Amino acid sequence: MGNNIKLHDKVFKPYLSNEVIEAAIDRLAEKVNADFEGSGDVPIFLCVLNGAIMFTAAMMKRLRFKAELVSIKLSSYQGTSSTGTVLIPIGLTAPVRDRRVIIFEDIVDTGNTIVALKEMLLSKGAKEVRICTMLMKPEVYSKDTVLDYVGMKIPNAFIVGYGLDYDELGRNLPDIYVVDEPKDKNMKYYILFGPPGAGKGTQATAMVEKYNLHHISTGALLRKEIADCTELGLKAKNLIEEGALVPDEVVEGMIESEFRRVSGVDGFLLDGFPRTIAQAEALDAILKRTGEKVTSVVSIMIPDWMIVERISHRAAIEGRTDDSDVTIIKSRIDTYHNQTEPLIDYYKKAGLYNEIDGIGTIEEVRDRIFELVDKF
Ligand code: AMP
Repeated sequence: MGNNIKLHDKVFKPYLSNEVIEAAIDRLAEKVNADFEGSGDVPIFLCVLNGAIMFTAAMMKRLRFKAELVSIKLSSYQGTSSTGTVLIPIGLTAPVRDRRVIIFEDIVDTGNTIVALKEMLLSKGAKEVRICTMLMKPEVYSKDTVLDYVGMKIPNAFIVGYGLDYDELGRNLPDIYVVDEPKDKNMKYYILFGPPGAGKGTQATAMVEKYNLHHISTGALLRKEIADCTELGLKAKNLIEEGALVPDEVVEGMIESEFRRVSGVDGFLLDGFPRTIAQAEALDAILKRTGEKVTSVVSIMIPDWMIVERISHRAAIEGRTDDSDVTIIKSRIDTYHNQTEPLIDYYKKAGLYNEIDGIGTIEEVRDRIFELVDKF
């Protein structure tokens, strides 16, 4: 295998040679042949574009029974994210009703995409759906669905080549490479917690500057998606305007993408995330993959009556639609109490919870936060 390669800002080192990959595909193809050859069925090979294009071609050369090729593209939040997949099929080029389908996938990570795809195909009337993946990551696969054919199991690492990309580059490499980036183990991960209107956004600005952090506000990211009229924005809009939460996997994907995208900072400041126990667990899992963990939770507390007062005041300044209506504000407070407040216990148990009194001037609250964060 060759030397290290550079794609965009990252260096990748050789990981699986083309010979190793092709040998795994040989073994995989024999299993599929054993199940389908002689059955008389003409299944559909479903290539999940773009990543599985090389793998599908390699499998097709080895499979000895009649089949049709169909392709599908699933749009997801951002190129490098595994968990934020929003299943929007583009170009399922033939009907699947009453057909046996074999999905060809390059890699199964958490399983969110592949399991949702399988369910979608079954809902469209497919008689049987099998999953055939070149690679899978057992450490992060979180579904009960059985993967029918698995080429190779790999540890949880970010890889490119043989169809897999890093922001669209690297797909044409015959070998597979793994990212070679010593992660800065001293990165800080702060969670800015508190009810809506507690002043998280305002205090985030001061913290980011003082501690050289990258501010990730899931609310702001979602509002940008809405302003850009993306698919994701259209989906999120109604939920946000009802004061409800958008699905966990959407925001989890956003967070992971931001972690991967941003460098040159001393840490991240999470504002508005996590908002559910599931999101907190997902965050722990994302950080665990790189041997990291949450540094601390900074919780800004204000009473409910002050939430309404502060948000109504902000509505006049920022013009947010979800700030402008008392019913929506009330619904967001309910969502906070029901779904987000349980996180206090979660982080207390982890020994990470720190509460700050959010009543006072912006500067007073800021100084309380600085006093706390200076310790980490
Ligand atoms: P914020 O700007 O943090 O108040 O968020 C505005 C809205 O975006 C929320 O009321 C939710 O509908 C949505 N949102 C933001 N962050 C999350 C999250 N972590 N999970 C689910 N929904 C979120």
